Amino acid sequence: MVSLFKEKKNVDVLICGAGPVGLFLANELAELEINFRIIDKVEKHPEFTKALLLSPRTMDILDNRGLLYPFLENGVKMKQLCILQDVQNPSNAFKVDLNGMHSNFSFGLINRQTKTMEYFIDALHEKKSLRKKHVPNVEFGMELIKYEEKDDHVIAVVKNTKSNVEEEIICQYLVGCDGVHSTVRKGINGWTFEGQTLNSSWALADVEIDHELAKYYQGTFIIHEAPIVILPLDARKNTFRLIVKIGDEEKKNETNDHVTHGLTNEAHITLEELQKLFDERIAPIKMELKNPVWISNFKINERIANRYRTGHVFIAGDAAHCHSPFGGQGMNLGIQDAHNLAFKLALAIKDQSADVNKLLDSYEHERHPVGKNVIEGTGYVTNMMSGNDFYTSFLRTRVAPILFNFFPQTVFNFQDNLLQNNLHYLPGSSEILHKYKPRSGAENKLIEAGYYVQDGLLMKITSHKSHEHITMFDIFRSTVLKHTLILFTLNKGVTADCNPFIETLLEIYNDYKNTITPIIISYQGIVHAADVPFMPFQEEGREQHIFVERKFELHEKYGVMKEFGKQAFVLVRPDLYVASAVFEDDVDELKAFLDQYLTKADK
Ligand SMILES: Cc1cc2nc3c(=O)[nH]c(=O)nc-3n(C[C@H](O)[C@H](O)[C@H](O)COP(=O)(O)OP(=O)(O)OC[C@H]3O[C@@H](n4cnc5c(N)ncnc54)[C@H](O)[C@@H]3O)c2cc1C
Repeated sequence: MVSLFKEKKNVDVLICGAGPVGLFLANELAELEINFRIIDKVEKHPEFTKALLLSPRTMDILDNRGLLYPFLENGVKMKQLCILQDVQNPSNAFKVDLNGMHSNFSFGLINRQTKTMEYFIDALHEKKSLRKKHVPNVEFGMELIKYEEKDDHVIAVVKNTKSNVEEEIICQYLVGCDGVHSTVRKGINGWTFEGQTLNSSWALADVEIDHELAKYYQGTFIIHEAPIVILPLDARKNTFRLIVKIGDEEKKNETNDHVTHGLTNEAHITLEELQKLFDERIAPIKMELKNPVWISNFKINERIANRYRTGHVFIAGDAAHCHSPFGGQGMNLGIQDAHNLAFKLALAIKDQSADVNKLLDSYEHERHPVGKNVIEGTGYVTNMMSGNDFYTSFLRTRVAPILFNFFPQTVFNFQDNLLQNNLHYLPGSSEILHKYKPRSGAENKLIEAGYYVQDGLLMKITSHKSHEHITMFDIFRSTVLKHTLILFTLNKGVTADCNPFIETLLEIYNDYKNTITPIIISYQGIVHAADVPFMPFQEEGREQHIFVERKFELHEKYGVMKEFGKQAFVLVRPDLYVASAVFEDDVDELKAFLDQYLTKADK
């Protein structure tokens, strides 16, 4: 085969793989004004859909980045789960409402993966048209062949799949978002993908169903014998995604190279065979399956890479982990990997990190345990729903109905955890989370480093007398490129004469102008524009940095309590997790933490 080398090109980041994870990372890097390229070996994305579900936390993140609108506009909001154990008595189905989930979004949002990728590509085009010139197009038909890691860069060889012309790309960082068979992961000796292929065999089908058990706003789980899952695919058509266990097979020894997550090369089940399976399993219920868009067999793999980073090379998404589709977490986990990695790459590239190695290591240290948890959680659910041994069958048929009927909160909490709605990072596991112990311990309820931010209602001061409502998340939407340093003032005033910590906030801002946006949240009646003490936002072309709350809800949510009487500083990272939170009398600890974390503006 002819292979020609063209000239070498430089770029800060090369993203290998334009699946949902690579495309989200591309949007992040574009937003953070990083110079990158994104390639994919296919000429066009395939028409079929693997991932469907956006979890509440992912919706929050997309919302923060201004990407959620088309998903909400066109997706199906799944608001309840229907769990049917006794097919003889469908009226006894147990319903789990999703509206109590820990999020602004109390539903699962279903979109086809093809649409997800389309929306992300549209968003990239939009950023480009807003004259952010660094935003490149996705380069389809470009395959990463191999790469070599040097001391401070990576040399990647990519091939145009049509012309076979090869090109060397010199990048500061290479990120493999190239799926379970990742070329990036396989490119470094010792980078393993350990785990197992489950011996159960499954079918997936997108078909039309006209039956009351299949509803647009609900997911139906029939767990009478082997499980059948029915999920709505379109709000306006009768199309549903079916996931059906076919049976168990002899366990084979599979190596890293035989990962069969998703599609296999085995003979595919036909619609007739699937219908027969349905008729047998759910009799006397009769559910006709029609007009299949896609039918496929698949095996479940539970695997995780031993590392997420090697020097200047990273992996994210399915390249780093894969697991059972129960819980719909794969794409969500991958998008959240990219969310965690993007701002760290940007800090490293812009020379804004005090310790690049520590910063970049924190990606693996924060995300690897999350990947492991999801594999365990989804594996547990899969086993509970489909295991045939006595113990599992007993739990499913005898214990689960009691839980569903009498302890719904237990089921609900489990599901909240499975969807990662409560996810936070442990300060002990990450080098860039402030390990803080307040001097005055007992009354401390302050939010901890590693926790996800809380939303709440505030008022923004617009002119002498008028005030506009705004949410905390609205504020984070406007501070996306930087860390946000919040000073919760209780009712101690917002002017430097009455509150010395206003001066401290300004001082920190002056030191870290490039990476921190300061805001003040005050609990008091009315603040007039004339009271606003300083205008750092104006330097950034914004006018607001001071917000007022009337009900004392946000202070409380962040653990700044009236009775304790101390103001607090909370530093929020661009990925919306708290980096540090300290009381006023420990502000020197925050300064010391910042010294180790970010570079000062004049450096
Ligand atoms: C049946 C099924 C149902 C699922 N349901 C859900 C769900 O409801 N919710 C959910 O969150 N997840 C779900 N998942 C998982 C989800 O599909 C994956 O987690 C998700 O697609 C991972 O995205 P990714 O971008 O990491 O990888 P991929 O989507 O695999 O994309 C990788 C891309 O990299 C490209 N590539 C590979 N090698 C190279 C190379 N050498 N050079 C250039 N490009 C390359 C590929 O062409 C591909 O476009 C499901 C999976 C299956 C199998």
